[in-house]
Amino acid sequence: MGMKNYSTLIIGGGAAGLFLAANAATEYGKVLLLERGERLGKKLSSTGNGQGNITNARVGEAAYFSVRGDKTQEKQVQGYLARYGRKELLAFLERLGGLFLPDERGRYYPAGRQASAITDLLRYEIASRGVEVQTGAYVQSLQKVGGRYEVKAKMAEGVRTYFAENVVVCTGGKAAKNFGTDGNGYILASAFSHTTTALYPALVQLKTDVRHTKTLKGIRVMDARLTATVDGKPVQSLTGDVIFTDYGVSGDAVFRISSFVADKLDSGKVSLLIDLLPTVEKEQLLTILTEKQKNYPQLPKAELLCGILNNQVGRAVMKRYGEEGLSAVVDGVKGFALPVLGSLGFDYAQITKGGIPLAELDERLQSRNAEGLYFAGEILDVDGECGGFNLQWAYTSAMVCLEAIEEKYRSKI
Ligand SMILES: Cc1cc2nc3c(=O)[nH]c(=O)nc-3n(C[C@H](O)[C@H](O)[C@H](O)COP(=O)(O)OP(=O)(O)OC[C@H]3O[C@@H](n4cnc5c(N)ncnc54)[C@H](O)[C@@H]3O)c2cc1C
Repeated sequence: MGMKNYSTLIIGGGAAGLFLAANAATEYGKVLLLERGERLGKKLSSTGNGQGNITNARVGEAAYFSVRGDKTQEKQVQGYLARYGRKELLAFLERLGGLFLPDERGRYYPAGRQASAITDLLRYEIASRGVEVQTGAYVQSLQKVGGRYEVKAKMAEGVRTYFAENVVVCTGGKAAKNFGTDGNGYILASAFSHTTTALYPALVQLKTDVRHTKTLKGIRVMDARLTATVDGKPVQSLTGDVIFTDYGVSGDAVFRISSFVADKLDSGKVSLLIDLLPTVEKEQLLTILTEKQKNYPQLPKAELLCGILNNQVGRAVMKRYGEEGLSAVVDGVKGFALPVLGSLGFDYAQITKGGIPLAELDERLQSRNAEGLYFAGEILDVDGECGGFNLQWAYTSAMVCLEAIEEKYRSKI
């Protein structure tokens, strides 16, 4: 089939690829975006429970994670965010005609609360820039031939070959593969000797020892204080909803905390402590329970927490700790302990922790092994907390690549 020449070829029409294409100048040569799915931004359009949590007021304060965990990398990411951070992302999206507002937790959404609107704004901009887009194009091989990149994509009508001076790999990680992200980008990168760190599902439901929570399936504890411990040491605490399930726990607090322990689950030393009454002090609770027992000597022990916790949750606490006395009950309410056995895995996870280490790239996110080959988004060993940080990273890293590519052309003119 036909061959075509491009200045820049973007592999993957997800968040990073779309941000890049919607900012790309076409005056230096043709730009092409290849997406394997039938439509662009399928995942982007489902983010934030369909509402599209694009960034966060805490961008710039909160740390991003890396499995490799070196300080240089952390600094590098903060440096990128200083150039292409929340303000730049929002200003860009507002230039496209969108309006983005924060909620009470600092999470920014399109004012219409539709994630698909973000994809639409980007699509219109991409079209108006004259960037070419090909969907249903699954890139299967990437190699350098005579100083330029040869990209082979499988399409419905057969394999098509493209040539480009620069390639940006925006194929995402291996979480939520129903969105087209099955980890094949790592294989494309391996043709240029790139490696990945260990990869872990993150922002994911956790499997726990369900012995003490079997009766609680479907119950949501609102605004619980959740603490994750590793080897008995607390690593993170946060407040949010916890939902008991047949395999363990779900809910936004669980999702968020999973990021802090995702790479430590294999060792089996992670536990969750759920404070079921975070706004009440232990002493106060002990007083209430002591009085209650005194005033109602007839009250069945199992019902002691009636009116204090959800009835079923209260019974589960009493069943587990009731025999050990009131202060054990209080401790159980303030720290219901659940040993973590694992997570639901990549298919259920929202992001991949780990990826191509930044150390294999230069400071412009260009491969150290191949000039003109760039990487942006989740494929890299950078992941953020839940709350808009990952889409922010997709934008930030895409802009770093684009700036580098366009600078090369500008310096030639
Ligand atoms: C359900 C869900 C909700 C989320 N909610 C939020 C949120 O509210 N806020 C937030 O910040 N983050 C959220 N995330 C995470 C965020 O969506 C991702 O981190 C982000 O989309 C990563 O951007 P990316 O461009 O690197 O990869 P992706 O957006 O995953 O895009 C990669 C694209 O590449 C395509 N592709 C892969 N391989 C090839 C190939 N060989 N050839 C051609 N195309 C290919 C895929 O089909 C896909 O479209 C959510 C994730 C999920 C799954």
